[in-house]
Amino acid sequence: MRVLVVEDEEKVASFIRKGLEEEHHAVDVALDGEEGLTMAQFSPYDVVVLDLMLPKLDGYRVLQRLRSEGVETPVLILTARDGVGDKVRGLDLGADDYLTKPFAFEELLARVRALLRRGKPQRSPILKVADLTLDPATRRVSRGGGPIELTAKEFSLLEYMMRHPGQVLTRTMISEHVWDQSFDSYTNVIDVYVNYLRKKVDQGFDLKLIHTVRGVGYVLREEP
Ligand code: CA
Repeated sequence: MRVLVVEDEEKVASFIRKGLEEEHHAVDVALDGEEGLTMAQFSPYDVVVLDLMLPKLDGYRVLQRLRSEGVETPVLILTARDGVGDKVRGLDLGADDYLTKPFAFEELLARVRALLRRGKPQRSPILKVADLTLDPATRRVSRGGGPIELTAKEFSLLEYMMRHPGQVLTRTMISEHVWDQSFDSYTNVIDVYVNYLRKKVDQGFDLKLIHTVRGVGYVLREEP
């Protein structure tokens, strides 16, 4: 099984890595929240062990972003705080379990094992806006029953828009979610990709789904 450990204290991270490797898991370590988010988004981990206090992006935000993008990998939160509020907040955001530091290593292993046994939750449902559908699991996209071929980036962009139908998405939001970085000086990368998508998704259909909100960004919706 593949486990991602997101933990900025290198000592703790390597201690967890060692223990999990002894149990024959493949372990990757991310030392800050941004790195952890990117790794969890793009690699199929079976469990993520996530510290809450992290540089760059805290554990709550990492978890929130993962769940909002449909990444349903089980997450075990590590928290140095034992306030009930932190645990509740973590669980509300979609964590599957939590452990308060300092913890006994045996307990961490037991909890990781429990999450691995539970397996992955059901795959995300097919996304649908009007007659446009996108299946995150098979990566099939179709409109009016006809298949649409998309590049990987176009797919990510459309998936992000379809997960937020009716919501205006700024270029900054799009670049952070789809490219995981901000395009400060060349934001027209996003405009270019939205135009590619438009051609594939809207061309030839009376009902346009991708709309420009002048000076703000883009929105995917049924209403003109
Ligand atoms: Ca920390």
